[in-house]
Amino acid sequence: MRTYLVTGGAGFIGSNYIHYMFKKYDNEIRIINVDVLTYAGNLENLRDVEDRDNYTFVKADICDRDAINKIFEENDIDRVVHFAAESHVDRSIVNPEVFVQTNVLGTATMLNAAKKAWELPDGSFKEGKKFLHVSTDEVYGSLDDDPNAYFYETTPYSPHSPYSASKASSDMLVKAYMDTYKFPANITNCSNNYGPYQFPEKLIPLIINNALAGKDLPVYGDGKNVRDWLFVEDHAKAIDMVQEKGRLFETYNVGGHNEKQNIEIVKTIIDVLREELDDSDPRKAHLSYDLIKYVTDRKGHDRRYAIAPDKIKAEIGWEPETMFNEGIRKTIKWYFEHHDWMEHVTSGDYEKYYSKMYGNK
Ligand code: NAD
Repeated sequence: MRTYLVTGGAGFIGSNYIHYMFKKYDNEIRIINVDVLTYAGNLENLRDVEDRDNYTFVKADICDRDAINKIFEENDIDRVVHFAAESHVDRSIVNPEVFVQTNVLGTATMLNAAKKAWELPDGSFKEGKKFLHVSTDEVYGSLDDDPNAYFYETTPYSPHSPYSASKASSDMLVKAYMDTYKFPANITNCSNNYGPYQFPEKLIPLIINNALAGKDLPVYGDGKNVRDWLFVEDHAKAIDMVQEKGRLFETYNVGGHNEKQNIEIVKTIIDVLREELDDSDPRKAHLSYDLIKYVTDRKGHDRRYAIAPDKIKAEIGWEPETMFNEGIRKTIKWYFEHHDWMEHVTSGDYEKYYSKMYGNK
């Protein structure tokens, strides 16, 4: 039975990936999820898998060398899928250091532990072992002027925020391990994900949550920044396919072919909510574009990100399957049906953070 070590599996993409993998492989695989449970890590995301015999949760910091080495010593890990990171750009602008700590040093710790466990006396690596580093399109910088320009795997790195700089640094470390040691790894650089279990500091769950509560819908600057949106389950599938069919040492860009301005996203959510809510539902009464409030732009806000997922399509046969209209409806429905989940995550530290960023409106 193949054993996966997933880092950051209690977060948004990590928990969706674990669901996807158990749905696909059921009892054919074993998953060990290592997560320190920051504000973004939530074991409620994994309630339906926690009783499985082939699932183990380990609470540990990826920067804790002894704890990570111990996991490798006690288990014959075949695959590492490395999600754990500080992931929110706004937080990186307020407090960059923790991004360097987790994203750069944490990745170095993971690489070292895997190398130590997998390396043979002659410097080669045990057969079949693979490390996948999950990264972002933000490392490529911003596509400001040319609407026909896209990020390719060959696009030079030009990160602007402390978040993207820390992710770029971690990518470089993985590349250095591949170049220096022939360490068996891949990197995936993905566009913005959306879907169930996303912490409501990120645009889509933030807008759904605020719209249902009748709160202001904060939109940065002129609202015209463009992001390429990918349904999270499609991303989970891409990661699995890269590990199964990709060429080692390669980078694959993963994108949704779904470029949208932020303001379009916000208006779509309002429109879909108005369609879905019953006329008698009191939450419908206040739901209109009047809730939209433009707020001071994010410092150094990148204008446009857009991935060209040509290589992953040509080499591996992966393509995004969920078009935005379908994905956003699925997502909104999920947040509707998981009202308790939203209440739990918005009650504690998140509330304090939210009021610091946007006030109490
Ligand atoms: P998230 O913030 O929802 O989850 C991060 C998880 O990592 C949390 O469970 C958290 O507790 C854990 N974690 C943080 N620091 C840790 C540490 N020191 N030790 C152990 N665990 C730690 O993030 P996400 O949105 O799920 O993103 C996952 C990965 O995908 C990240 O590497 C991110 O850079 C990348 N990514 C995200 C997106 C996106 O749109 N969300 C897009 C492209 C790439």
